Amino acid sequence: MVRLPQLLALAVLAIGGPASPRQPGTPPLEIHFLDVGQADAILIKVGARAVLVDAGRADDIVQVLREFQVDSLEAAIASHNHDDHIGGMNAVIADFPIKRYLANGRPAENGASRDVEEWAARTGLARPPPPWDPIVLDDVRISVFPSPLVDATENNSSLGVLVERGSFRALLTGDSEVPLLNAWLATGIIPRVTVLKAAHHGARDAVTPGWINRTRPELVVISVGAGNPYGHPDPMALRYYQTGQRRVYRTDLAGTVTITVDDRGRYRVSTSGPTPR
Ligand SMILES: [Zn+2]
Repeated sequence: MVRLPQLLALAVLAIGGPASPRQPGTPPLEIHFLDVGQADAILIKVGARAVLVDAGRADDIVQVLREFQVDSLEAAIASHNHDDHIGGMNAVIADFPIKRYLANGRPAENGASRDVEEWAARTGLARPPPPWDPIVLDDVRISVFPSPLVDATENNSSLGVLVERGSFRALLTGDSEVPLLNAWLATGIIPRVTVLKAAHHGARDAVTPGWINRTRPELVVISVGAGNPYGHPDPMALRYYQTGQRRVYRTDLAGTVTITVDDRGRYRVSTSGPTPR
């Protein structure tokens, strides 16, 4: 069920105001799909400023962030509260100053979310409720929007994150499945994008032809662990993502996948591993 007032809020969020004008010498936007096994952790950086979307499964995410010269976070965003997305979040909250923590607001139902609650309370972490103003880093704009579904599963309560710089757009939707993808499509806020993170680690229940037709990504990144017991990514889902010779990068094959976007919205892809796709 979709709540109309929330839809209106989402529509306003989608229109929003402009990001700051482009300045000469603006640092590149880097989106790192970190290789954290069967889990999600996406680090977004503009110069020294950073935003983290999900924190992998374990505390060693802290060391990974330090290797990327992270010393604080403009925001930490939890797409949803499963272990493979917030398992390392308590360590991140404990070790880094964080301006705000954005989450789906569901009650703590597992050890990882109780740990986050404990550390958020201990550190006085700001946890504003939605709707959220976009996070603006120079001319990069990061919009975070909640699930429009009521009483949905944890996966279908995932937050959406849209990263924009000029004509470049990257869309992250946590472990959203078909009901949530369809609900977002119905709101009209989902644009054509440059980069799409495959939802739910490339599962069959997390992509439809309609989702691909609307987002029409040039490139898809699947955050997935080698030999995972779920069979992710699903062969049929892979066929959807690969239509039209679209490039698909998998963290189990390519390691960390980095998208670097210049101040004109032009991008290039690099990987930490030897296999580009
Ligand atoms: Zn997951």
